[in-house]
Amino acid sequence: MDLTTLTIKQSHEGLKNGDFTSVDLTKAYLENIKKSDLNAFITVTEELALEQARVADERIALRLRSGQTFGLLCGIPCAIKDNILIEGLNCTASSRILENYVAPYDATVIKKLKEQGVVFLGKANLDDSAMGASGETSIFGATKNPHDRTRVPGGTSSGSVTAVAAGEAAFALGSDTGGSIRQPSSFCGVVGFSPTYGAVSRYGLIAHASSLDQIGPITKNIEDCEIVFEAISGKDKMDATSTDYKFEELGISLKGLKIGVPKEYFAAGIEEEVKKIIKSTIKKAEDAGAEIIEISLPSTEYALACYYIIGPSEISANLARLDGIKYGLSENGKDLLDVYLKSKGHGFGPEIKRRIMLGTYSLSSGYYDAYYKKAQEVRQLVRQDFEKAFSKVDLLFCPVSPFPAFKLGEKLDDPLLMYLADIYTIPLKLAGLPGLSMPAGKTEDGLPVGLQIIGNHFEENKILAVAEEMEKLLT
Ligand code: GLN
Repeated sequence: MDLTTLTIKQSHEGLKNGDFTSVDLTKAYLENIKKSDLNAFITVTEELALEQARVADERIALRLRSGQTFGLLCGIPCAIKDNILIEGLNCTASSRILENYVAPYDATVIKKLKEQGVVFLGKANLDDSAMGASGETSIFGATKNPHDRTRVPGGTSSGSVTAVAAGEAAFALGSDTGGSIRQPSSFCGVVGFSPTYGAVSRYGLIAHASSLDQIGPITKNIEDCEIVFEAISGKDKMDATSTDYKFEELGISLKGLKIGVPKEYFAAGIEEEVKKIIKSTIKKAEDAGAEIIEISLPSTEYALACYYIIGPSEISANLARLDGIKYGLSENGKDLLDVYLKSKGHGFGPEIKRRIMLGTYSLSSGYYDAYYKKAQEVRQLVRQDFEKAFSKVDLLFCPVSPFPAFKLGEKLDDPLLMYLADIYTIPLKLAGLPGLSMPAGKTEDGLPVGLQIIGNHFEENKILAVAEEMEKLLT
């Protein structure tokens, strides 16, 4: 049996029945990682993983001997995006400036997973500083799409998603600021979830844009997504924006469910094949008894521009701490300014510099009202669009991306084209809403296409319950 094809739940059953051990599971995934040419991992923690697996096996044996059950994640091997801190391991964010940075503490999500007895296989590749949409800008080289090695896996959680899609991890954690979990999940045919802002602690996540960043699960199916989400969510005193909320399963069927379909998400720019796959998926929901209602989110066309003011503004503040003195790369200079110029000059990639400049400009006196303040007002309008929609419907169904995985190098020299990859994943983030990407079908070239399900704040249980129904219809 190929252990790396099993879901978390199936792996758990196998561990419970004594069919295999966590060490067997871990070795199987490590074997795939070693054979792989996809470049999904930056750091592979083989020894640590095997040690954690041994400890998990002991814990499982002990529980079973006394007739007790054990946690669903105990002994399950995972990959962690390399912008989430694991104490004692390098945490690079794929950026030159943090290349040799060693995490001094565990992120809250890591602490939670450690308590469950999860096995960490290593740190997964990402776009430099979690900015990008293709997985190509990492200083450790591009990750490749396992469905077609001439194409990108999407980004920025490129390594996390590729690892899950290629049997190099049972599940992974990624982060989503404007689409970084959902868009690559769509490109690689796995499940990716960006929870409501505040549902999961951001403590120990290297900040990109703090009002948008969320950590979330990347899994092989919806059931696993629910398992991981439950394990990592909840209030954390180290993150003031985290919320005290408890996930509760919801029994819900498609029958009578009101599904909104935003017409702006099928307008010019979307590829015909993607449109066809998503429309036929929506038709399947309708045939199963859902009521399909066309809705409008009129501010959609401003969302991308708004995101590229607010995001960079927050980036320019967050990345100010990477000054060549407090953290990371530090270059010698003749005076303080020279140290700054050299350390930042060599440490930051071109996209990061672009955003710092954009953000600094938008926040500067004289331009603040015209750019930053205006963008905050637009953000309000985007939020109101969704509020109105959710007064009429339960959930929204739409595409994740206007196109499937594109060719390596295709958009690398054109930032605007790259930004457009997130045109459907960004708006809901401005409103702090949860969004899920799940496999909906494949193009004629065999490229996966994801369906996006958007819910109201803290209605992840509704999203996941309906996604599970959709999964049954689609497989
Ligand atoms: N592609 C978007 C950006 O570059 C989103 C990135 C992310 O979600 N981390 O900002």
